[in-house]
Amino acid sequence: MLAQIPPMTLLVTFIGLSAIIALRYLLISGLFYWLLWGRAPEKVRAIKLMHGHPKPGAVRREITWSLLSSFIYAAPAAIVFELWRLGGTAVYVEAEQYPLWYIPLSIFIYLFLHDSYFYWTHRLMHRKSLFPIMHRVHHQSRPPTPWAAFSFHPYESLVGAIFPPLLALFIPIHVGAILFILVLMTMAAVFNHCGWEIFPKWWLRGLPGKHLITAAHHNLHHNNPRTNYGLYFRFWDKLMGTDVMESEYPFLSNP
Ligand SMILES: [Zn+2]
Ligand SMILES: [Zn+2]
Repeated sequence: MLAQIPPMTLLVTFIGLSAIIALRYLLISGLFYWLLWGRAPEKVRAIKLMHGHPKPGAVRREITWSLLSSFIYAAPAAIVFELWRLGGTAVYVEAEQYPLWYIPLSIFIYLFLHDSYFYWTHRLMHRKSLFPIMHRVHHQSRPPTPWAAFSFHPYESLVGAIFPPLLALFIPIHVGAILFILVLMTMAAVFNHCGWEIFPKWWLRGLPGKHLITAAHHNLHHNNPRTNYGLYFRFWDKLMGTDVMESEYPFLSNP
């Protein structure tokens, strides 16, 4: 079926998707950078996780790598989009094709599988042989800013780019649920790199905070790369003994 996609159509889709992904990144990262770092600290209702202010050079570097990643993310996405137009994916449009309850379930399945893939490839990329080639670029963001959301070396971006579109070939999902996941993915990547914890204390101390990853959790990974490898959920980190959180932040235990 791949051979049936006209190259020019694929190119136009690739350019369009690159623009959408880059614009989505610039808008969300730009908004949160301004909200958290562009205003006087006393106006920000969030918990600052680091000292000082990000250096302009660091921000420029994060934006450059992230824009490059946008092109890499668009490539497999464009192929799957064109396959979808030819009817070659598991993406459906008519909501009645599956029960309504399947929509939230499919979103959870996609997020869980993506999180599992991210956790294990992330751990692999921390091995001595792979780290300098693939993952060092991301860890140059120390501490990270919202612009670091897609700040990866192209090899790492490629590893990350392949998996979510692959899922769409095999696991049925409504087209609206895909759009929801795409926005959520960018939001999570931006939130995790804010340098500020934007979720309220009741959220962090309660059930959501015990299972979902936020900036406070991922910031610790940028400080100590032997911990907190997850993307959305703390599940794999807890299971594999790499989770650190409550012991590091007094605001999670003190009233
Ligand atoms: Zn990171
Ligand atoms: Zn890492």
